[in-house]
Amino acid sequence: MAEDKKKLVKCLVCGAIFEEGEPVCPVCGVGPEYFTPHEEKEKKFRKDTEEIYIILGNGAAGVSAAEAVRERNATCSIVMVTKEDVLPYSRPMLTKAVMGKDERDELLLHEPEWYEEKRILNLTGKKAERIDTKEKEVIFDDGIRLKYDKCIYALGSECFIPPIPGHEKGEVVAIRRLSDIEKINSLLPRSKKAVVIGGGVLGLEAAWELKKSGLSVTVLEHGSQLMSRQLDQEAGEFLKSLILEKGIEVKFQADTREIEGDDHVTGVRLEGGEVIPADMVVISAGVRANCSLAQEAGASTGRAVVVNEHMETTIPGIYACGDCAEYKGINYAIWPQALEMGKAAGANATGERVSYKTVLASLTFHGMDTSLFAVGDAGKDPEKPYKVSIEKDETQKTYKAYYYQDGRLAGAILIGDTSEMGKILDQMEKGTV
Ligand SMILES: Cc1cc2nc3c(=O)[nH]c(=O)nc-3n(C[C@H](O)[C@H](O)[C@H](O)COP(=O)(O)OP(=O)(O)OC[C@H]3O[C@@H](n4cnc5c(N)ncnc54)[C@H](O)[C@@H]3O)c2cc1C
Repeated sequence: MAEDKKKLVKCLVCGAIFEEGEPVCPVCGVGPEYFTPHEEKEKKFRKDTEEIYIILGNGAAGVSAAEAVRERNATCSIVMVTKEDVLPYSRPMLTKAVMGKDERDELLLHEPEWYEEKRILNLTGKKAERIDTKEKEVIFDDGIRLKYDKCIYALGSECFIPPIPGHEKGEVVAIRRLSDIEKINSLLPRSKKAVVIGGGVLGLEAAWELKKSGLSVTVLEHGSQLMSRQLDQEAGEFLKSLILEKGIEVKFQADTREIEGDDHVTGVRLEGGEVIPADMVVISAGVRANCSLAQEAGASTGRAVVVNEHMETTIPGIYACGDCAEYKGINYAIWPQALEMGKAAGANATGERVSYKTVLASLTFHGMDTSLFAVGDAGKDPEKPYKVSIEKDETQKTYKAYYYQDGRLAGAILIGDTSEMGKILDQMEKGTV
């Protein structure tokens, strides 16, 4: 009897592909209403070699690349390296419902057996310091040198920490790694007031998690609107009203001058002298790509490591993908992009010729007892004529804005009811209205 082939679904929010039947997406935590059936194309390309593939970084891009290599090359050695002390995990979940809990194992992308089966060796707690392109070796902080035939550079990004005096204090955290959440968790029992610096999506997610953990929370936003890169002004106002209802304070045009306190954080001083009391500060001010190792090795870099459609850097044999890579001048630094770039990098490194298909830059936010979805161009270019359709329902707490250009949907914002997300993504991908 033919073995039943497991049905797969794809999460519309983060692009993760997994078996049907999961109650929530294992990567980003959204429910089945965001899943769509998925069929994996059979991989025809095969090239079994004795080569050594080193994958620097074990995030979404690294794992996706490792899997793509193994699907095409059954005999090569695959070594995935990270400076963290943990197997690959879902980074997006860090600001989604894991604060105050010990979720180390729950966050793993795959069980250890998955890597054993695929013969992917994970080296954890190992920091890469240099790439010697002449000898084709990666040099680590413990002096060990590992030889490679192909190197996939997937070192991701780091939180940007503005040079605010006091940012080095023990109760200041920027959330990038599991260890950052573990630090927050250790601070929670003795914290009552938190300040979040940055009113973007990750700052708001963190603010909501801190609020749910029982802290009083103030969000400081340098600009005059929340999520200003993705939302139109009206949506920003709408979101603000939902946040205020939850008892979270928001201050706009708030320029932080100092994080105050001697032994411990006591508050955040703003320009103008106002001090917001705090015993914990979360900084969420964007990310910077980890491109220095590639740059020092001679690769061309801009905001990140420059790659072509095959994820090749300007150094032969070195591919880059994920948050640390920039394609056509764009570095979205989102999970679905890291997955797709990783797939393309892995496939091309084995010798297949695969082109990276750019992903639609969309954003979702689940918190404050609402959901939010924004995609494409929501009227951000003052030079362009947009046709706009807005539906707002104060009682249902929903807001929907559709931006059209030349008769085509160019961007959309949904707050409170994101059920049309799949339809919108489909329309935008196909270029239809
Ligand atoms: C809190 C949070 C929430 C997020 N939420 C969302 C979301 O909802 N939706 C979304 O699309 N995206 C989200 N993102 C972004 C998403 O997580 C990233 O785009 C994605 O993780 C990038 O994957 P990557 O593999 O390129 O890099 P990373 O996941 O950063 O992996 C890079 C790896 O390289 C390792 N590394 C770095 N330097 C070295 C070195 N010198 N030596 C050895 N190892 C090294 C790092 O430790 C890390 O393990 C979120 C990010 C964060 C931090």
